[in-house]
Amino acid sequence: MSIARLYMLQSGTQRCKVHDIRMNQGNGADYEIPVPWFLLTHPKGNVVIDGGLAAEGLADPRGYWGASVDSYKPVMTENQGCIAQLAILGLAPEDVRFVVLSHLHSDHTGAIGRFPDATHIVQRREYEYAFTPDWFAAGAYVRKDFDRHGLRWQFLEGDATDHYDLFGDGVLRMVFTPGHTLGHQSFLVTLHNSGPVLLAADAVYTMDHWNEKALPGFMASAVDSVRSVRKLRALAEQVGATLVTGHDPEAWSSFRLAPGYYD
Ligand SMILES: [Zn+2]
Repeated sequence: MSIARLYMLQSGTQRCKVHDIRMNQGNGADYEIPVPWFLLTHPKGNVVIDGGLAAEGLADPRGYWGASVDSYKPVMTENQGCIAQLAILGLAPEDVRFVVLSHLHSDHTGAIGRFPDATHIVQRREYEYAFTPDWFAAGAYVRKDFDRHGLRWQFLEGDATDHYDLFGDGVLRMVFTPGHTLGHQSFLVTLHNSGPVLLAADAVYTMDHWNEKALPGFMASAVDSVRSVRKLRALAEQVGATLVTGHDPEAWSSFRLAPGYYD
């Protein structure tokens, strides 16, 4: 039986300001952040983790994503969409069994509904909040990405389902990390040769955030954000995990991107 592989992918970048990512830093300077997503191939089924920006939005970015494109401008081509990138890896849409979501901000929801046989896994409170966001968070949620007819959902219940193990073999575990959003989760992937890899997603924007030198420029709760970082730091230390941050250009450039992989 084949062993699991983790592919790191990117649906382009977003142009924003330093202070959007590192609170109160940068004096208004421009910044460009990667938009990461992941593919986990596993003997029991392939998993897309997040999925980047929806390629469909590129035809009319403002019409699709709204005014948020003024603050976070997508820099991406059609062939950086998740379907196109999986095709290059030899996977058809029917080959994906799960779409697992850290949260439902629009730079993470480009895979939802694109894989006809997939079950979509998200925290229930994230899903519910995405339909009724507060004013300051509303621009980050694009309802047409996740409010689609006929989707199969599986909801996780925060602390009650913390460390949910998707395949029951420890390869993919979900860690509840609220703060960036109400129902954010991160992922601990444990690989045969590469060992544990912690996909923090937006629970850890940058290494500054991880090292408690900067709060992120956007979050639902500062208190929950810093406590979730502490939780992930303890976990990473305990298992010896490699950290993958959510939007750190320097840290992201140190990883091997697809078609390379970690196994
Ligand atoms: Zn986010």
